[in-house]
Amino acid sequence: MPFSLDDLPIRDDLRGLTPYGAPQKSVPVALNVNENTHPIPEDVARDIVEAVAQAVLQVNRYPDREFTILRDALAGYLGHGLTRDNIWAANGSNEVIQQILQAFGGPGRSVLGFPPTYSMHSIIAAGTGSTWIDGARDEGFTISPETAVAEIRRTDPDIVFFCGPNNPTGTPLDLATVEAAYDATDGLVFVDEAYAEFMPVGQPTALTLLEGRERLIVSRTMSKAFAFAGARVGYMAAHPAVTDALRLVRLPYHLSSLTQAAAVAALSHADEMLAMVGEISTQRDRIVSVLTELGYTPWPTWSNFVLFGGVDDPDDVFERLLERGIIVRNLGIPNHLRVSAGTEAETTAFLEALRDIRLSS
Ligand code: PMP
Repeated sequence: MPFSLDDLPIRDDLRGLTPYGAPQKSVPVALNVNENTHPIPEDVARDIVEAVAQAVLQVNRYPDREFTILRDALAGYLGHGLTRDNIWAANGSNEVIQQILQAFGGPGRSVLGFPPTYSMHSIIAAGTGSTWIDGARDEGFTISPETAVAEIRRTDPDIVFFCGPNNPTGTPLDLATVEAAYDATDGLVFVDEAYAEFMPVGQPTALTLLEGRERLIVSRTMSKAFAFAGARVGYMAAHPAVTDALRLVRLPYHLSSLTQAAAVAALSHADEMLAMVGEISTQRDRIVSVLTELGYTPWPTWSNFVLFGGVDDPDDVFERLLERGIIVRNLGIPNHLRVSAGTEAETTAFLEALRDIRLSS
């Protein structure tokens, strides 16, 4: 047997775990990781390049460790009376979550989450030595306030994780559930709002609950609606004491000056960067109606993707789509696949290929 990781003196609690595993394949139509598939506008790209060029001229120096200008820009973008003191950012919201669990989780501490949910939540829990606890959802992947409270009483976690809208199901998160969970625990309550911009316009998010709730954290990302996944910028809003806690665990200068410059430039064009959100939501709704017409069972979704059931053999459909140059996500949920809403042309390519596969099987 060749030498493998099992032969290394790795931490016992990491033995046998599998890493995050969305397949990376270069195909014409990639609808598997909920990206914004629209490229950013060229004028914005030029401004970003200009800002990065300026930053490069000073790259001999460490970046602003407090990324103050970026925090100001993120606070301005979020609104809700938030200021830089409420904001923290890192290289993707995955890193924000890791820092939260480094500060508030860890050995001897537990995190209650509600699967099926974003797979990295439990993987980051494992990486930080925190114990992950599976909570139960209600029918249709929802979580009622009563269910959340019952699961908190049953498991007595140190941290409660919600994801709204939930990945991979798209399910909206009831804010009454977050409020009830907060009142039922002395621990932290974390809401992952990576897909918040795809919610119906005017719908309140968990940001509206922050006032007066010092143990509540709401995370966001520039990777989805903002079309900035490759730049790796995620952030959170919370009481300033939470940002102080994260300063204890972050590595100094964790956000490079190039990242900071790029993100600030992108945020100054927020309207243009977000211009495609409405179009993506239209494609998402189109996916839901065509899938229904084809006899599949898409779940209600407030995000930029659709989880659909009624797939007899998800492995087979996944492969047949791939043969046609289209990649979707096979999450191992029986009889289900997940697809991200793409451009109109990508969405059409997916729906036509699926119609073909449906009719030929
Ligand atoms: N949260 C959720 C719910 C996600 O789906 C993702 C990405 N798929 C992330 C966080 C991580 O995003 P990023 O690290 O790119 O900000």
